[in-house]
Amino acid sequence: MVHFVGAGPGAPDLITQRGAALLQGADCIIYAGSLVNPALLGLAKPGCAIYNSAEMTLEQVLDTMRRMEAAGKTTVRLHTGDPCLYGAIREQMDALDTDGIPYDDTPGVSSFCGAAAALCAEYTLPTVSQTVIITRMEGRTPVPEKEKLQSLAAHGATMVIFLSIGLVAKVQEALLAGGAYTADTPAAVVYKATWPEEKVVRCTVGSLAESTKAAGITKTALIVVGDFLGTRYERSKLYDPAFATEYRPATESKQ
Ligand code: SAH
Repeated sequence: MVHFVGAGPGAPDLITQRGAALLQGADCIIYAGSLVNPALLGLAKPGCAIYNSAEMTLEQVLDTMRRMEAAGKTTVRLHTGDPCLYGAIREQMDALDTDGIPYDDTPGVSSFCGAAAALCAEYTLPTVSQTVIITRMEGRTPVPEKEKLQSLAAHGATMVIFLSIGLVAKVQEALLAGGAYTADTPAAVVYKATWPEEKVVRCTVGSLAESTKAAGITKTALIVVGDFLGTRYERSKLYDPAFATEYRPATESKQ
C-alpha cells in the first residue's frame, strides 16, 4: 500500500495526526526533499528506507513503490503542503492504478494557509473578495492560455501565486496589466511560511519586485495580492445581531 501524505508547510507539528501515524508505521518514505522539513523524517521507525524524490525521476519513484509493494511493505509518499496543489500526484496514482497497487491520500496544511497565518490575514473578507485564485506564472512550465496571470488578475480577487518568486518582475507586470489592481493595491511575499526562518514582506503591487529583491528572497515563497490586505471591509453577516441564522435568532432590528 502507498500512502500519499501532505507534510504541511514546514513546521513539523503542522502535519496531521493521521499523517504522523502513517510516517511512524512506514517501511519506506519517499519525501519531496526540496521543500519537506527533514525533521519529519525523525518520525520514521528504525530501518525505514528513506528516499529524497528531489533527486529521482517519476520512473525511479514508481520503481521504488513497486519494489516495496512486492515485498509487502508500506510506502509513504510525503509531499509538501497538501499533495493536491502542484504535487504531481496524479501521474503517480494513475501508474499505481495500472499496476493494481492500492493507495490513499491524507491531506496537509497547504502553504497558502501557512502564508495567511503568517500574515494573520483572512483571504475572504466580506465586500472585498469572496474568491481566492491559486495560480502560478508560466515559466519553464507552461500554463493554459486561458489562465494567463494577466487575465486572472482582471478579477481583482484575492490571488495566491505559487512557484513564481523567481519571476516576480513579470508577475508585477502581469498583475498591473490585468486592470483591476493598481500600483497601490496591497501585496505581500511570504518566504518559508511556518519555518523558523519565515519572512513576511508587506508591500504593494507597484513595489512587489523591488521589495522582494530588497529582502533577498529568491525561492520558497508565495506572492499574495489583494485588498484583503488593506484596512476596509464590512463585518460578517453571520455574527451580526440583526441577522438571524439557523442557530441564532436576530436580537436587534436592522438599522
Ligand atoms: N503542495 C504544496 C505546493 C508545492 S509547489 C502546498 O500545498 O503548499 C512549491 C511552491 O509552494 C513553492 O515554490 C512556493 O511557492 C510554495 N511553498 C511551499 N512551501 C512554502 C512555504 N512554507 N512558504 C511559502 N511558500 C511555500
